[in-house]
Amino acid sequence: MNMHDSERVLGLLSKRGYIPVDDPKEADLILLNTCSIREKAEQKFLSTLGRLKHLKNKRSDLKIGVLGCIAQQSGDKLRERAPYVDYVIGPQNIGRVGEALDFEEGVFTEDNLEIALSEIPAYRESSVTAWVNIMYGCNNFCSYCIVPYTRGRERSRPASSIVREVEELIQQGYKEVTLLGQNVNSYNGDVTFPELLRMLNRIKGLERVRFVTSHPKDLGPELVRVMAESEKVCEHIHLPLQSGSDRVLKLMNRKYTLSEYMEKIGMLRDAMPDIAITSDIIAGFPTETEKDHQATLNALKEIEFDGIFAFKYSKRPYTRASTMDGQLPEEVKSERLTEILRLQDEITEKKNQKLKATVQEVLVEGKNDNGQYTGRTRTNKIVNFVSEGEINPGSLVKVLITEAHRHSLEGKTL
Ligand code: SF4
Repeated sequence: MNMHDSERVLGLLSKRGYIPVDDPKEADLILLNTCSIREKAEQKFLSTLGRLKHLKNKRSDLKIGVLGCIAQQSGDKLRERAPYVDYVIGPQNIGRVGEALDFEEGVFTEDNLEIALSEIPAYRESSVTAWVNIMYGCNNFCSYCIVPYTRGRERSRPASSIVREVEELIQQGYKEVTLLGQNVNSYNGDVTFPELLRMLNRIKGLERVRFVTSHPKDLGPELVRVMAESEKVCEHIHLPLQSGSDRVLKLMNRKYTLSEYMEKIGMLRDAMPDIAITSDIIAGFPTETEKDHQATLNALKEIEFDGIFAFKYSKRPYTRASTMDGQLPEEVKSERLTEILRLQDEITEKKNQKLKATVQEVLVEGKNDNGQYTGRTRTNKIVNFVSEGEINPGSLVKVLITEAHRHSLEGKTL
């Protein structure tokens, strides 16, 4: 979501004549698009901001802006703490970046109820795959998460506006779109999310549709059916589990139990036996016991995700979990995270090994640093491969998988 926000800010700025530069010393304007989902991201931002202070001291005409969730969360306080910051612009106001630059300085963090109606041009790096925002914000208030406080309540974009953007992307040569939303499958515009997928599936020239991130509570039989029936909708879903313990899931306010989650996994695999399922796990949530942690490890063994993103629980301001008793020591969180990652590494490797000697459809995105072609399978696995003939980015090719690693596959065209 943040990367696509950056693309849209670049789109707005390029319309005003700005061009991107690689070296901050050459920039007239530096914008930091921030994330506050975990404390570590916030610390990285603060050290980067500290380095920019020296640049500003040398060049008073340099403008510095902070965008994203830290901007929203800190507002005026950020400029009190770092007076050399000229602009503070929250994620609901990124469409106002151009307007902000008309002022010497300013804080733009109001709730933007119109965000789903604004059409903001994007300056995309890829020429093959594109992100398309379909909804904004979140109503779920998971007890550990700051997003509902920074990105506001759920607002869905009208289907016609989404279809128009995708059709324009196809005209520009894009082949794949990834629909974005904090809870993408809670999309509630003028049609339902499964209906939206059906509409996109009918667009000529579009090869693949993906979506991220889905909430388990909103994954029903209709969505599974549409995924299975729509040839352009890829067989991959990112479905955050967060914990294998029902007690912890309840404290997290996730609104499902492990067995309900497993039922959904069963439904997905019954309809699409080769579907890849990835997930998110939090290690060391407040009060998590060794038994809860073992329940998470057991769930990982039983489900066998294709991959996970796992992180130590991190206290976030405003959230209920940050004030809970039973915060765990860092070393316990670290140990549990290591165990989770080690187990999942084995599972991921085993699953990828099974793909050896299979033929996969790969959408070619370009070449990697080793000169091999690179692209992704429908199940979102990265494939690096060789080919005797030249292949253009955007082509769909059949690749025989010859090697499998944890994070990628290798192969050759047939
Ligand atoms: S569903 Fe939960 S974790 Fe995801 S953005 Fe909303 S509050 Fe955060």
